[in-house]
Amino acid sequence: MPLYEYECRACHEYCEVLVRGVETPACPSCRSTDLERLQSSFGVSSEATRQSSLGRARKAGSKERRDKQHAEMEAVRHHDH
Ligand SMILES: [Zn+2]
Repeated sequence: MPLYEYECRACHEYCEVLVRGVETPACPSCRSTDLERLQSSFGVSSEATRQSSLGRARKAGSKERRDKQHAEMEAVRHHDH
């Protein structure tokens, strides 16, 4: 269900409205339907999802490097014996 952000042209109230089907969103303050749609939350959330998956990829990469360093330390220790 799309969640849209609106600014009411009548009272300049900012609001987020879930739009179901063909329902016309109305300002929660003055019930005006003369709303200006701002940026959709879908764009924001997909951007956040992209950034968090990038973060996960970076974390996975650093864990791999730590494991490699650990393996190298083990190799050195074994070599000393
Ligand atoms: Zn309003």
